[in-house]
Amino acid sequence: MKPTDTPKTYRVKSFGCQMNVYDGERMGELLEAKGITPAAEGEDADLVVLNTCHIREKATEKVYSDIGRIRKSGRQHGKDPMIAVAGCVAQAEGEEIMKRSPGVGMVVGPQAYHRLGDMVDRAARGERTTDTDMPENAKFDALPARRRVSPTSFLTVQEGCDKFCTYCVVPYTRGAEISRPYSDLVEEAKKLVDAGAREITLLGQNVNAWSGEDDKGRTVGLERLIHALADLPDLKRIRYTTSHPNDMTDALIAAHGEVDKLMPYLHLPVQSGSDRVLKAMNRSHTAESYLKLLDRFREVRPDIALSGDFIVGFPGETDAEFEDTLRIVDAVRYASAFSFKYSPRPGTPAASMDDQIPLEVMDERLQRLQAALGRDQLAFNEASVGKTCDVLIERKGRRPGQMLGKSPWLQSVFFDADLQIGDMVRAELVQAGPSSLQGRVLESVSA
Ligand code: SAM
Ligand code: SF4
Repeated sequence: MKPTDTPKTYRVKSFGCQMNVYDGERMGELLEAKGITPAAEGEDADLVVLNTCHIREKATEKVYSDIGRIRKSGRQHGKDPMIAVAGCVAQAEGEEIMKRSPGVGMVVGPQAYHRLGDMVDRAARGERTTDTDMPENAKFDALPARRRVSPTSFLTVQEGCDKFCTYCVVPYTRGAEISRPYSDLVEEAKKLVDAGAREITLLGQNVNAWSGEDDKGRTVGLERLIHALADLPDLKRIRYTTSHPNDMTDALIAAHGEVDKLMPYLHLPVQSGSDRVLKAMNRSHTAESYLKLLDRFREVRPDIALSGDFIVGFPGETDAEFEDTLRIVDAVRYASAFSFKYSPRPGTPAASMDDQIPLEVMDERLQRLQAALGRDQLAFNEASVGKTCDVLIERKGRRPGQMLGKSPWLQSVFFDADLQIGDMVRAELVQAGPSSLQGRVLESVSA
């Protein structure tokens, strides 16, 4: 197999956020519509798509080493696979990838991957192409209908970001905020449900900034879309992520008290507990306004599981300011969270700020923060023991015979029972660990 032969098999490797997972699935559907099939596990594919993430350090170097590894493995098996670099590194690096890696046939940005099929045809004719255009919504109109659906599916409703947090590359790699049209989303959700989806997670870089025109011509927010999806009888669960504190509305908060299918879980990144740091990050919320927002969610949905994102070691962060972050953790008692060391991203304002924090200091702060978050996550899981809830089975566990599903609060629940992916079971949560629970099936619920 030469990279100029038409590929018969493909593999998409997605890194980073759930939006990349969604994009990866859609690229797979697009390739399958061309008759290219997924490579079997453990087999080299004729076409490898690296769907990259640029959010933190070493992303670019990782892409180059992945390319080297894929080519080496191909050569060992008598193949010279076609390689496409997609995602945010493709958007940020563009032609540079082509210059540095002669083995790459295609570089395609996150807003242009609907043209991947043509690019594959051109690569088969020996042409190398780069496409990092950002046409609004064009890719969604051009993609084939959904066909690869699991019981838990993602649906991208909003893309891009206008917030320009000073540390973040997303506004540069994913472009300005856009919302997909309401009717397209209801249609895609129906297709997903008809094909077997029982849970849909609505995705966006700032998903709660979504707005659109409903079937009556009214301008509506995310809560209206959630209500519309809740009317699909076979859809059992709705989630959405990631939200920005500044885009939170009364109506979306209220939806948590009104829509049973909307799961009691909220991912609302705070980044820091220090108002000075938040201002330098251009976050435009304060620690207090954030806490007040969470209180309002708890009022309408007292059992809501809260999650957040944190950055330690933003330029200029003092010990006292880091302590403010620990204080916010103590105040919220998160059920889960993601925490990162600040990573200077080329071209962002924070990368050239004075007083970059030494790595050892960041390491120490991250350890302390993760210890506090781990303590709270375990406490949340332990407090769930004895509860009865529905669990949607998503995949096999690591041990033979073990199956894994998610509770309404997005906890992983393991079962040693004869269950199938897509089953919904009523279960008792019987034992808690730091990142999962053991469940006991009480009865099957129709999913
Ligand atoms: N739009 C979402 C928001 O504002 O919360 C999050 C999008 S971003 C892809 C996911 C997370 O990555 C952020 O919440 C932040 O904690 C982290 N992140 C972004 N840029 C970073 C950087 N330069 N260094 C470390 N973490 C970063
Ligand atoms: Fe990045 Fe901030 Fe936009 Fe989130 S809101 S994607 S952190 S710029």
